[in-house]
Amino acid sequence: MITITTAVKEILLQMAAASSFLMLFQWRLNQSHITRRNPRCSDEYTFLVMACGLSLVLCSLLSGNLFGMIDLNWGILPAFIGMLYGSFRSRALLALMLPVCTYVFSDPVTQSHVLLDSGIFMYPLLFGMANRFKFGTVVEKIALLWIVLVPCMLFIAFTSFFDGNDFSRLQDDKMALILCMLFLNPLLGGVLIYMLESAWNKREIEERIAYMSEKFRREIGDLQQITDMVPLSIISVDDNGRITSINETSMKKLEIEIPHITRTDVLNCTLSDLAHRLKLNDNRELDHLLDSVTRKQKFMGKVACLGKILYVLAAPLVPRDQGQQAGMVLIIQDMTEEENIRSELNHVERLTLVGRMAAGITHEIRNPMAVVRGFLQLMREKSPSDMESYYRIVMDELDRANSIINDFLSLAQSGLSGKEDSNLHDVIEDLAPLLWADANLRGQSVELRLCDKLPLLQLNIKEIKQLVLNLGRNAMEAMEPKGVLTLETRCVPEKVELLVKDTGSGMSDMEMEKLFTPFFTTKEQGTGLGLPLCLSIAERHGGSIAVDSCLGTGTVFTISFPYEKQEKAAVVC
Ligand code: ADP
Ligand code: MG
Repeated sequence: MITITTAVKEILLQMAAASSFLMLFQWRLNQSHITRRNPRCSDEYTFLVMACGLSLVLCSLLSGNLFGMIDLNWGILPAFIGMLYGSFRSRALLALMLPVCTYVFSDPVTQSHVLLDSGIFMYPLLFGMANRFKFGTVVEKIALLWIVLVPCMLFIAFTSFFDGNDFSRLQDDKMALILCMLFLNPLLGGVLIYMLESAWNKREIEERIAYMSEKFRREIGDLQQITDMVPLSIISVDDNGRITSINETSMKKLEIEIPHITRTDVLNCTLSDLAHRLKLNDNRELDHLLDSVTRKQKFMGKVACLGKILYVLAAPLVPRDQGQQAGMVLIIQDMTEEENIRSELNHVERLTLVGRMAAGITHEIRNPMAVVRGFLQLMREKSPSDMESYYRIVMDELDRANSIINDFLSLAQSGLSGKEDSNLHDVIEDLAPLLWADANLRGQSVELRLCDKLPLLQLNIKEIKQLVLNLGRNAMEAMEPKGVLTLETRCVPEKVELLVKDTGSGMSDMEMEKLFTPFFTTKEQGTGLGLPLCLSIAERHGGSIAVDSCLGTGTVFTISFPYEKQEKAAVVC
């Protein structure tokens, strides 16, 4: 007969053997990476059933008999847990293993032992509850285990009673130990399920956190790339005004002002430090911005610094779920170019108005001038001949004033009237006699180099003639006798080009810069309106003028006229 101490030891041994599956399973959870819980198909469930089977065998191997009264084999506990967690097949396997182990290790082996101690009577209930068990909460799971386990423990007590054991002969402490053993078994079952579920949940949470942090890291990377790509400077600062992040666009702009500055340098300083390093002192707008950032107030406005006009939006960052503020973000847009264009547009608008008024006034001046000229003509006829030279000067000056007015009015005229499909070669050939005559008077020559085929263009012939004449005259005026004026045409993709070349004085860089500016002239009798007029004619035809000049060698004006694809079809010789 064993003593109480040995019996306690044996009970503890059974407890350890029955719990061994949990240790194995925890080891397995720590090894595995994917523990998404899928009750229908998961490696973890298969492993759990195998570990329970092993625990069952261990319990059976260590089984014994308490005071010759009752079998001590807790294999039923891991077997039932395995059957409840496992699939139908693993459940059937454990259901077979349990009676086999009970049969092999029971002493004495009787039918009632195999039938009652292995809990075979509870199998239908166990199989029926398994599905509910899998999707239940921890408490439900423990309750379901107890529903099948508690009757089994009672069966075990009954079998030893039916075997004829006289419990009344037992001392009270031994009886208490037996009762304790019977009570401890389901209690341990509950604890094991609780620990198993906790371990499993913890692992799942760990996995989820790892997945979320990886996703978070990726999203931060994506966000950083996006902020780096936008053509805006984005800077965020913490509550103390210290810069916490800065995008690539800002870094590039900073590098222009402070060479060799690194992101780490910037991240270690405040906005005021940065302004100080950029030597931005005495800037009221900037001070206002820095003040708003310090007071964590929204700022929206223009800041002029480093010769640039910046549009700055500074706004406090408020996390969506908390009411608390988390620093500020500054979005800076360089508006220098836009501002320049805007002021230029205003200037142009004012000029247009002035131009329109001037055109109106000029037009009105022509009539009184015509009257004055007419009367001068009359007076000239009736005046003595010694006054003739004075009249000639007055009349010449009146004619010059009239030509300035005509040029100015042509320049002021906008919009096109009378465009028609025309051949540029015809226009040039029409003008050729006039140019030849002019060139002859100056001792110069004119050369035509017209290409073979040219598409028809939408031209206002009157204006194009004026353009060619103006450029031709300028060229002749820039050349000495024996100079050669060349008019060349060529057809390049989508464009027809007219080149007016001369072998004249050419122009300096300064002259080139002022070219096309109204009233810019280097000639005593010049109006400075010829080239602006040519440019406006070219632009009204959707074209452009390019100039290439070399001092002392000559100048080439290239006028490009665009033509549509369908015009290509109408190619003429
Ligand atoms: P204008 O002929 O009345 O001076 P334009 O607008 O036609 O006015 O020309 C402006 C100025 O551009 C000229 O005074 C001259 O200095 C320069 N220029 C124009 N064409 C040529 C050229 N082919 N070669 C050299 N200078 C030229
Ligand atoms: Mg001219």
